[in-house]
Amino acid sequence: MTDALMRPAGVDEGFWPALAAAPRALLALDYDGTLAPFRVERDEAVPYPGLAALIADIADRARTRVVVISGRPAADAARLLGVEPVPEVWGGHGWERSNGDGHVRREVLPALVEQRLAAAAAAAAAAGWQERCERKYAGVALHWRGHEEPARAAAAARALLAPLVDGAPLELLTFADGLELRCNLWHKGRVMRRLLDEEPPGTVAAYLGDDRTDEDAFNVLAAGRQGLPVLIAPRWRTTAALAWLRPPQDLRRFLERWLKTRE
Ligand SMILES: [Mg+2]
Repeated sequence: MTDALMRPAGVDEGFWPALAAAPRALLALDYDGTLAPFRVERDEAVPYPGLAALIADIADRARTRVVVISGRPAADAARLLGVEPVPEVWGGHGWERSNGDGHVRREVLPALVEQRLAAAAAAAAAAGWQERCERKYAGVALHWRGHEEPARAAAAARALLAPLVDGAPLELLTFADGLELRCNLWHKGRVMRRLLDEEPPGTVAAYLGDDRTDEDAFNVLAAGRQGLPVLIAPRWRTTAALAWLRPPQDLRRFLERWLKTRE
């Protein structure tokens, strides 16, 4: 099959009548790189103009359960999203769950993982990474944004964290200007499966995401034929998603049509 034939295009027109007719709808959204463009200062990564209002309208008027799924802490993603009332947010790739009331529930971390994360933070501090070390609930991230020698910093971070993976449910995850040691017992695919399990049969679901960690969720939807996995990216890449939209114009049109279809 040629690349052109394998390449997913926009959303299949058949999706919209199915969405209109569905008794329930689930719209699951990644945050960074999907709703919000990357920023050098991670704390300034807010959604593309107009998206927060659209998402608020969908949650309010479009008979849709809106869920944000992020690698960030749940409270962090909820705050940056800026949607009122705050929708359901899963943070830390699923380790944290918040229903918008400000209360965050966390899954229990294995003791071995706790030990390894503490060791990672200690090793990072000893190696001079204090200012660039982010301790998350189920991970330790090292950031080298703005570093004078990013390649050297990346190699040093990997040398520090890689020895801690062995024999534990941990993985190394690269992201823009950083590396994270994280517990892999929760991931976005598991979150997607849990969300679908919570929904009655006949629910139409979509998941929108941009990076490798979103592929787990794409696979769940694609394999179960239970919904629409959508890659949000300026350029197409190999993906399990069945549709591809460019941010922010195509993404905004998709959300506008979702609202119109379900209103
Ligand atoms: Mg992302």
